[in-house]
Amino acid sequence: MDILTEKDFELVEKAREAIRKNYDDIHYNHTVGAAVRCKDGKIYTGVNVYSLHGACGEQVAIGTAITQGERDFEAIVAVRGKDGEEIVPPCGNCRQMLSDYMPECEVILMVCGEEKKTKAKELLPFTYRVE
Ligand SMILES: [Zn+2]
Repeated sequence: MDILTEKDFELVEKAREAIRKNYDDIHYNHTVGAAVRCKDGKIYTGVNVYSLHGACGEQVAIGTAITQGERDFEAIVAVRGKDGEEIVPPCGNCRQMLSDYMPECEVILMVCGEEKKTKAKELLPFTYRVE
């Protein structure tokens, strides 16, 4: 696991901005913000959307980036809470998506109280692959 760069901390801040602007724990349960940085330096954000099969913040951020034609991803982070105070690891479903779309992308996590990052493929060893 690696330590974060200044650009990584900026990415965390972008995820926090996304949830600060959209936090809603009453009607739509928007509680997670995410930000993904592409290789060209552009950052896309998203918040989770809720329904029977809702979408995680990471999925919304990645979907937004892909919609804009992005395909090369460098780093991703998700935060939870009114102020995005808590960095949260990707859920199992997101780990599969990250592994499929961007195995080399760095994922920012809290490890023993410290911000760290590791490649998406490290978070889902022996993963299922569509052949
Ligand atoms: Zn997820």
